[in-house]
Amino acid sequence: MSVQKFQAIRGMNDILPDEARHWARLEDIMREWLAQYGYLQVRTPVVEPTGLFVRSIGEVTDIVEKEMYTFVDQLNGESLTLRPEATASCVRMAVQHHLLYSGPQRLWYMGPMFRHERPQKGRYRQFHQCGAEALGFTGPDVDAEQILMTGRLWKLLGLTDMDLHINTIGDLASRHRHKARLVAYFENHQDMLDEDSRRRLHTNPLRILDSKNPAMVQLVEEAPKLMDDLDDVSAQHFEALKTLLDAAGIAYQVNHRLVRGLDYYNATVFEWMTTQLGAQGTVCGGGRYDGLVEQLGGKPTPACGFAMGMERLLALLQDQESSVLTQAAGPQVYVMHQGEAARGAAFLAAEKLRMAGLSVVFHCGNGGFKAQMKRADALGASYGVLLGDDELKMHQVTLKPMRGQGPQMALTLEQAIELIRQDGSAHV
Ligand code: ATP
Ligand code: MG
Repeated sequence: MSVQKFQAIRGMNDILPDEARHWARLEDIMREWLAQYGYLQVRTPVVEPTGLFVRSIGEVTDIVEKEMYTFVDQLNGESLTLRPEATASCVRMAVQHHLLYSGPQRLWYMGPMFRHERPQKGRYRQFHQCGAEALGFTGPDVDAEQILMTGRLWKLLGLTDMDLHINTIGDLASRHRHKARLVAYFENHQDMLDEDSRRRLHTNPLRILDSKNPAMVQLVEEAPKLMDDLDDVSAQHFEALKTLLDAAGIAYQVNHRLVRGLDYYNATVFEWMTTQLGAQGTVCGGGRYDGLVEQLGGKPTPACGFAMGMERLLALLQDQESSVLTQAAGPQVYVMHQGEAARGAAFLAAEKLRMAGLSVVFHCGNGGFKAQMKRADALGASYGVLLGDDELKMHQVTLKPMRGQGPQMALTLEQAIELIRQDGSAHV
């Protein structure tokens, strides 16, 4: 039989144990943080009907035009898509299950998303987002709360160098007015547009403002500002939002070029950026999407949400050598044995240690004490518990502190448990 080696799909990463430990730590902190603000977790399928994303994200956005993993279900010919984001899924879920009949909802999710992009640092084809959606709130208090809570997360994670950019993109009518002025302006400067922008000029001119091409900066800087076409309601909303942020002592920059890449946004948009991740500097993006619930078949419901990239957050935590990632990882106890009879007793002792609430790795297989000690050390165990013929005879174990917590001792198993429990430095 021929042998074939397989590789993970390009842009989709395996997360090995050392790194998975960091993920788990970050996820734990996030779960607690979201609960603190009263958000409830939801889990939606990874695959959705293609139309859901085309309708919500918008036909002429980067995501729908070129980044979606879309395929035909061979059994019934239905077009399906691996979710590129989860706001549309959350709204579909809320509408399908009439969640909003019982009042406004604060929901969160965490999980893999899929976009067919060119893989590079901080940009993958399978990546992970944690996001929150507040459905049924007119704001601007909930907008401010979401900005405040993301700011709180950076503090909990010990992250510095996070810049908040905010903007308002108004209502549909103000965006139409703005679009017309933008198109006229860019048409007057056709020769200065790059290829991407020329294509967008008549499909999605607002997106030209989001251009990352340095040659376009000047042109974009001098373009008409949406602020000048803004409707009164959005203008008041934005002023009130800024007042709330000022009162909470949150520093922000009003960034007129911030438009976000998805069509469903209106009024408030915001992004948290860092200069530390190179070109992939946006860690979290969000805003208001007051029309989406209705557009997807629900009753008119104002809403606001954000999503953050977990890979980018982890990269930042690693770059800044954050202390939340440097917690010890090994088991509290590694149980070793020598001889047939001692092995059976050690096997049972390991389970007793676990029943006492400790994390315990039992040495499976044989080998001398020295090799077993090496293994315990490699795993980062805090203590070794050894059982040989002598210990068996005395009804004792040998407790060997492995992190310089003192000399080794002969103790009963109960005494050993007590001692390990008392040692605050022994981790779980
Ligand atoms: P970018 O401008 O970097 O492409 P985006 O506007 O497409 O970002 P959103 O759709 O707002 O991103 O997603 C929210 C967050 O998810 C981003 O700020 C980023 O942290 C993360 N993210 C988006 N796409 C990717 C990707 N391909 N790989 C890793 N993280 C991503
Ligand atoms: Mg993108």
